[in-house]
Amino acid sequence: MSTDPFGLPAREFFERFRGESLTFDDLCVLQPRTIDFGAQEVDLSSRITRNIRINTPLVSSPMEDISEYELAIAVALQGFPAVIHYNMPVKEQAEQVRKVKRFENGFVIDPITLGPDATIAKAVEIRSDTGISTLPITDGGRLVGLLTKNDYSGRKHAQMKIAERMVPLERLKHQIVRVDALPEEDTARLSRANDLLLESHAGVLLIVNGSGQIESLVTRTDIEKNEAFPDSIKDRHKSLVVGAAVTTNPEQSRERAAELVAAGVDFLCIDSSHGNSAHEQAVLEYLKAEYPDIDVIYGNVATAGGAIRGIEWGADAIRVGKGVGSICSTSQVSLGTRSQITATYSCARAVREYCRNKGIEPSVPVISDGGYGTFGAIGKGLLFADAVMLGSMLAGTDEAPSAVIYDRQGRKLKGYKGMGSLEAVLRGSSARYDVETFDDYVAEGVVGTVRSKGPVSRWVPQIKTGIRKCLQSLGYRSLEELHEAVFSDAVLIERMSEAGKKEAGIHDLVEYRRDLPLD
Ligand code: IMP
Repeated sequence: MSTDPFGLPAREFFERFRGESLTFDDLCVLQPRTIDFGAQEVDLSSRITRNIRINTPLVSSPMEDISEYELAIAVALQGFPAVIHYNMPVKEQAEQVRKVKRFENGFVIDPITLGPDATIAKAVEIRSDTGISTLPITDGGRLVGLLTKNDYSGRKHAQMKIAERMVPLERLKHQIVRVDALPEEDTARLSRANDLLLESHAGVLLIVNGSGQIESLVTRTDIEKNEAFPDSIKDRHKSLVVGAAVTTNPEQSRERAAELVAAGVDFLCIDSSHGNSAHEQAVLEYLKAEYPDIDVIYGNVATAGGAIRGIEWGADAIRVGKGVGSICSTSQVSLGTRSQITATYSCARAVREYCRNKGIEPSVPVISDGGYGTFGAIGKGLLFADAVMLGSMLAGTDEAPSAVIYDRQGRKLKGYKGMGSLEAVLRGSSARYDVETFDDYVAEGVVGTVRSKGPVSRWVPQIKTGIRKCLQSLGYRSLEELHEAVFSDAVLIERMSEAGKKEAGIHDLVEYRRDLPLD
């Protein structure tokens, strides 16, 4: 029970500030409960779409400098998905999805294979493009051998045929198993495969069907990785979960969606800075009719009406955020924007009430997208949203695709540009910003840099601890508990004054050092 006479429940608070657009720093959130557990006990699981569960309530933004396959793999291992951006040819985007799906903690379904007549140079090329060095060798579909990086020297054997270097079938007997000899249930299956692999002393176990065709494989490195990433998010085949963006251009998005679905994408995101449009409706309705099993994220919106319209058109998640991204200049060149906390609360409340009244179960998740620069801001967004979409906070990671730059002070930085910046639009994101000619193009984003954050495996655990601490500081052990409390008026909020904001920052020091790369 809340115990303070001055705070207001969210509903009353936003009613009181009707007509004002508020954001993170405007809010003080009062502690409603006694804390009687450690931060590590907080459960961060949530949903990113109606049918996809995640273990960390985050999602990586579909931006050119962030979400490609390397980052998508790294964040999926940490419990949340990336949305592969569309500023690349359709085939390449589908290949990016395939790379994530192939990166396996469990079974590598549909592994890359080569024929015995291909050259070692081809295997070297695959290794340098995809990082994959374990290649089953097949002839007419049947497994005839195995090639790993231990079997050749890229320099010395480049022109040799694979048949001359591979380990032939007869020497692989102890590491081949028929698929029907494994249990059907996923966990038991993986565990049996792991046991067989350990017994074989080999690095890879090959799983074949009754006709001797390769179905999948399990590698020892994957088992080790599996053990190191207990939060990783996987589909029912134990492949990592990944999403991909399509445009609001009905024709382009049809082709893109078809390739992405064929590549095994788990969900699609219609990426538009001004959602709630007739084009977006057309794309959403088409996707839901054509691929009823693929969840679709719709947006971006910033009003309750825009969010509800998305649900009526079939959306499986609502993405909220207009004019608030760190690289965004939309607010300076157009209208329809709104400060992120008011936008997120308004949409989340409307979506909850709409789903409850219509009996939509599970309800449609709300993703709060853009403007997040601190762990505290993420905590505030998650008071109302099911997940927070990150751009700048992931752009500095080693796995983000942009190049490293050193500034004059020798600080390590990485490039980060808006998808509506002229540079990105010239490279292909014109559909997001409805551009037909560049002569009179008005940029909605800038090109900048962010501080390097090191590898995802070091930086994201800090973010996760930060989120856990936010929930713990209010006395809630899970997002579900938190949302239940917020929407039943058990959590009290106050407006922070300008003087209060100064007080909340670091002050009255001659100098200071911050140990987390937040600024
Ligand atoms: P950040 O996390 O504050 O950096 O915001 C990232 C979000 O900004 C993305 O997820 C997009 O919704 C949005 N965004 C990306 N590029 C642009 C742009 O060029 N202009 C406006 N908004 C953008």
